[in-house]
Amino acid sequence: MEKAPELEDWRAEGSPLTVLFGEQRGKYPQGNTLLVEGTREALVIDPSLGMIPRRDRLPAVDRVVNSHCHEDHIAGNFLFPDVPWHFHELDLPGIRSLDAMMAIYDYPEEIATPFRRVVVEQFHFTPCENPVPFRDGDVFDLGDATVRVVHTPGHTRGHSCLHVRWPGDEGGALYLGDIDLSSFGPYYGDAWSDLEDFERSIETVREIEARWYVTFHHIGVVERDLFLERLDRFAAMIASREERLLAYLAEPHDLAEIAEHRFVYRPKDPVPFAWAVERRSMSQHLDRMVQRGAVERLPDGLYRALV
Ligand SMILES: [Zn+2]
Repeated sequence: MEKAPELEDWRAEGSPLTVLFGEQRGKYPQGNTLLVEGTREALVIDPSLGMIPRRDRLPAVDRVVNSHCHEDHIAGNFLFPDVPWHFHELDLPGIRSLDAMMAIYDYPEEIATPFRRVVVEQFHFTPCENPVPFRDGDVFDLGDATVRVVHTPGHTRGHSCLHVRWPGDEGGALYLGDIDLSSFGPYYGDAWSDLEDFERSIETVREIEARWYVTFHHIGVVERDLFLERLDRFAAMIASREERLLAYLAEPHDLAEIAEHRFVYRPKDPVPFAWAVERRSMSQHLDRMVQRGAVERLPDGLYRALV
């Protein structure tokens, strides 16, 4: 039998919060899960693939809360079949069926068909008939621990951060979901993504003064100074993509050429769906660059920089 990898947990002393790291600090397809144990109830936030090797030592939980409906964030939901699964009301339809989940990405057929299999076989997609909706500002009161919903759309429509508080917490911990502070930068390449919502959500989380910030991937747990530094770098990727696009459009190009050139992924990264994500991401940049007069639309679907 294959040996289960050693997986690390993090806990702030005296707090009800444990971060259960996935392999490689939650590098995709893994992720980091939060466990919040109050005096009355316990809940898990975003059960990842990292929950599976821990399944025999997990405490009983009363609810599952998902920051959004993406495959890696719901991969361990199936381990908790008898408790309510909570989603923001805008992402909630995605967990009802595989078709509804696939509509969130809305990939072209040649990408969607193999991806459906991946979502089921590698991420254990399990539909839920009665998911429970939450909204911005809702609070889960667990007894000496609360979890407040901060709606932060952009990555998906319903993407939400979760602010975990407890008595004497010095600001508690803000779970950032996929505002993941990575060097890759913000991901807004799905049908349910929105660049400008994402920008507003970055400002929303910046204003929340927590003691700790927790991401689903890579970074794990950071304190406020490092969070602000990483958030600035993360946000700067948006401007960087736009500047590189503007430079590229010194010569006219159409959307297919823009997607081929790559502004989100590195040109050599073997990502089969890159062109679809590039197209969707960069067309949002193009729209607003045309609107503010930095780029003009030419005949034949070409774009050219005006400055
Ligand atoms: Zn996601």
